[in-house]
This record gives sequence, structure tokens and C-alpha cells, in this order.
Amino acid sequence: MIDFNADYQMTLNGRLVQSERTLEVYNPANKDVIACVPDASKEQLDRAVSAARTAFKGWRNSTISQRRSALIALGDAIDSHAEQFMSLLTREQGKPRAGAEWEIRGSAHWCRAMAEFALADEVLVDTPERQVITRYTPLGVVGAITPWNFPVLLAIWKIAPALITGNCIIVKPSPYTPLCTLKLGELCREFLPPGVLSVVSGGDELGKWVSSHPDIDKVAFTGHTDTGKHVMRSAAGNLKRITLELGGNDPAIVLADVDARAIAPQLFWAAFQNNAQFCNSTKRLYVHEAVYDEVLAALVDYAASVVVGDGAKPQTQLGPIQNLAQFEKVSEYFEDCRQHGYRFALGGRIDSQAKGWFVPVTLVDNPPEDSRIVAEEPFGPILPVLKWRDEADVIRRANDSRYGLGASVWGRDLVAVRRIGEQLEAGTVWLNEVHQYAPNQVFGGHKQSGMGCENSLHGVMEYTNWQTITLNRSGSV
Ligand code: NAD
Repeated sequence: MIDFNADYQMTLNGRLVQSERTLEVYNPANKDVIACVPDASKEQLDRAVSAARTAFKGWRNSTISQRRSALIALGDAIDSHAEQFMSLLTREQGKPRAGAEWEIRGSAHWCRAMAEFALADEVLVDTPERQVITRYTPLGVVGAITPWNFPVLLAIWKIAPALITGNCIIVKPSPYTPLCTLKLGELCREFLPPGVLSVVSGGDELGKWVSSHPDIDKVAFTGHTDTGKHVMRSAAGNLKRITLELGGNDPAIVLADVDARAIAPQLFWAAFQNNAQFCNSTKRLYVHEAVYDEVLAALVDYAASVVVGDGAKPQTQLGPIQNLAQFEKVSEYFEDCRQHGYRFALGGRIDSQAKGWFVPVTLVDNPPEDSRIVAEEPFGPILPVLKWRDEADVIRRANDSRYGLGASVWGRDLVAVRRIGEQLEAGTVWLNEVHQYAPNQVFGGHKQSGMGCENSLHGVMEYTNWQTITLNRSGSV
């Protein structure tokens, strides 16, 4: 029986272990310390890696049906512990119940769906004389490094493809949100041989040890673009395979023919879901000048109905900022807008006396294109709303970014919506919808939003080497 409220330990070679040093974990809604977790030493990481290397000898030869059963069992176990995971996720991350449910149920669904993603051998030639086959062989030991905004789902996006392809994996969660991941590791002991999956907790230093470790074969990383560049550099030591899912500055383009009142809730949640601590949040909202005033007014009205507060309260729809460093970073954008005299259509003032790291939902009325709030990724609930007139110009502005993660286009003229969408430089372009993900849908960033992809068979292949086997049957030897 797993206690989700206490006893947070690492899973290392199938055993639960503490470490000499610990890290404090906070509830962002009230700044209380809710747990102390191990801060892994370099030696503990080495032990996890060597256990994974040993386990790989057996796991790589397990049958696809054994691996499939393990993943399905894990998905079912996440579902059967969903209540405990959800309430712990709210406490450590801050997200309200609906968001926690989406993440935990989604994680269970992803495990089961990815269990079906077998990479069968491909027979290219099969004649009496010759056979040529392409195989997909596991890489070995994968290091997964995850951020604090969707700690469980983004770990599963790495665990599921790693395991189904026969790799072993070591998961390092963000020091801000390690609790659910540690419990996930504990849970996995029921379904996986020792060493196949380990969870090690620690700070950024531990992330560096993972990405530079000579016996780790691949790093799957989700986090900031700048951190991703560090990972890429340190992965070069042993030419690790890397998948990088990085930052975004997603534009949404709203055409002149929309119904402002009808679209406002959809645009609101496109931007503010998970309190805008979302790689795929709409972070620049381009509204055609013909409907700009109406859309802005409808957004302000809709925002007034949204309840911000402690995610543990049932009525809450938006929680706090997850950690102090992020709170300070988001506060800087408020200050920058104020200093430059940009107009706040809503919000703009942070209550420094609030019990938790709360920031009000804020809309900035048509700031300049080169302002920090437009050009950078605030990762908090402050959204620039921008006017456009000319289609070619708004496409140019939307693409004028180092990022290329996601984008959306909204309008009744589906031909125009499609025409604009196809010109956007982003890994996912949503048309009249947003934030729709699926296990069989490839996900990844263009430009500096990432490298490689997750999900779909393309994402699963990133956990394998290609191997060509050729056989000469002619008997000439
Ligand atoms: P972060 O880069 O600060 O940290 C992510 C992880 O990397 C943490 O576990 C951290 O401890 C570790 N880390 C830090 N420095 C490291 C180093 N030098 N080497 C190795 N590991 C290191 O990111 P964050 O603040 O946790 O997350 C927010 C960012 O993540 C945003 O930019 C957001 O857009 C991005 N993100 C991207 C996606 C995506 O799928 N593209 C999804 C979610 C979040």
C-alpha cells in the first residue's frame, strides 16, 4: 500500500532509497513546505545507471507482449490510484482538480495507447536468394529530464516509448515537482524488473550529471530552450541521442469573421490553461482590427467569471504560479509593461501580500511587436493582445520568433483559416481548436522549440537504432 502523503523516496534498482541530503518541496498555493525529498548524490546516479545497464541485458530480450503487459498494468495502476495522484499533483504543482484529472487520466491513457506501438521488423527483400530486413533495436539506458508544469504526463511521454522499445530508463523530475514522479517510481516496482525504471530526485546539478553521463545512451528532455542547449552540449561527450522539447511563444491568429462572444472562452483557455504555465499556451493573440475591440472586451468579461485560487478548492479554475523563481520572472514582465506604459486591459497589479504565488490574469492592450511581453515566453498569465490588418503581415509577425512549437488560427472562412495555418512555422497548428493531443499524433517543435519529437511512431522510433540485416541465401559460402 503506497502512502502518497509521506515517505518520498527514490526508486533505485527496485529498492526505495533515501539520500544524505534533501530538498524541500512547497505547496505554491500557500508556500508551506509539504515534503522533503532525496537530493541524489553523483554516486547514487551512478548506481542507478549501472543497475539499468544490468537490467537492460534482460529487458532488451523481453517479448513485446511482456513489455506491452507491463505498460498496460502501469496505466491501469495510475487509474486505480488516480485520486491520490490528483490530490498530490494539486498540492505540489498548484493546478486545480480539472487540470490534475486531465493530466493523470491522460497519463494512464498514454501508457495503454503506447503499449500498442510495436515497431515490427520491416522485410525489404525476401527471395530464395536474399533477405533484407530493417530492425528497430533499443538504445540502452535513457535519461528522462522533466519540467514542473506537467510533471506526470511529460514523464509518461518518455517512459512509455522507452519501455515499449526495450530500453531501461532513469527519470529525473524537476526539483519543484518531484512528488508524483517519486510515487510513480514506487508504483512501477510492481510491474517492472529491478533497474528497468529508476527515479532519482535532485536539482539542476543532477540534470547535468544525467545529460553528461558516459553510460547513458539517450536523453529525453523537456524544459527551457536555454537549458536544452546545455543538455545538447553535455550530451555530445558520448554522442547521446537526444530528444528536446523546449519553449514556445505560440501565436493565435483571429480572423475578422469570428463571433467575439462565442470565441472568447476558447481563446481565454488557449492562453490561460494551467495558469499559462504551458509550453503550448497561446502567448501572442493576434486579432483582426475589425473585431479587436469586441474580442478584447469579451475576453475581459469572460475572465471576470474565472475563479483563481488554491487548486484544492473545488471552485478554483486557475491556480498559483508554481514556484518562487517563476513568480519573480513573471513579475518582471508586469514591471516591464508598467515601465513602458503599455495599457493593461485587465489585471496588471500583483498582490505581494497574497498567501501563495498568485498573479492576476492580465491582458496587455496592443503592446509593440518588439516588447519583451511579445517577443519572449513569460510562462505566466499575462497575454499580449495585438491588432492586425494585412494577412501577409500577420503571418510574418507570427513567424518572426526563435520559437516554433505551436500555433492556432480561428475563423469561419475555413479556406482562409487553412491557408494561413499552412504558412505558420510550428510543430502543431490547430485550426479552430487548440491543445488537442493524441498518442498517435506527432508532437515536437520547429526552430528553437526543440529537436526530434514525442508520441506517434516517429516519437517511438527515437528510442531505437535502425539496424539493417542482410542475408545471402545462395549458398556461395
Ligand atoms: P528548466 O529547463 O528550468 O528545467 C527542466 C528540467 O531540467 C528540470 O528537471 C531541471 O532540474 C533540469 N535542468 C536544469 N538545468 C539543467 C542542465 N544544465 N542540464 C540538465 N538538466 C537541467 O524548465 P522548467 O522551468 O522546469 O520548465 C519550463 C519550460 O519548459 C518552458 O520553457 C516551457 O515552454 C518548457 N516546456 C516545453 C514543453 C514541450 O513539450 N516543448 C513542455 C513543457 C514545458
